[in-house]
Amino acid sequence: MFQFTFEEPSDQQSVELVRCSLEARENSHSPYSKLRVGASIRAVGGRIFNGCNIESCSYSPTICAERVAVASAVAAGYTQFEAIAISSDLKDAITPCGVCRQFMREFSKDLPILLVRSDGMVCRTDLTELLPGSFGPDSLDQPHRAV
Ligand SMILES: [Zn+2]
Repeated sequence: MFQFTFEEPSDQQSVELVRCSLEARENSHSPYSKLRVGASIRAVGGRIFNGCNIESCSYSPTICAERVAVASAVAAGYTQFEAIAISSDLKDAITPCGVCRQFMREFSKDLPILLVRSDGMVCRTDLTELLPGSFGPDSLDQPHRAV
């Protein structure tokens, strides 16, 4: 079972990614939930892409900060990632929803994930822990019925 263990971000890359995710919350469009979420993902090579949650009055088109960050990176031509940090206004760390876990799985099986509390403390985990036994692109490499 997943356990939250928090620590100060120690290395400079983590400090930067955490700071970016906390700042990314500022652009949140969340008039319905009133919950601002920010996510920052570092692509291989060091470039950071930010995302925030964007809600819609018809609810269904709402998109999470994590998917905005990943989509922004992919749109810029980056599909390999080193880590993602996720922040919110909650006192405790927020975890990515199931849809975002699967979306991130498209690009990494074991992406390091920093769950950031609003006080800046982080819980280090990864996609393998949050999405065990996942279905990924390699799953389609298995023999299956030809159409
Ligand atoms: Zn999500």
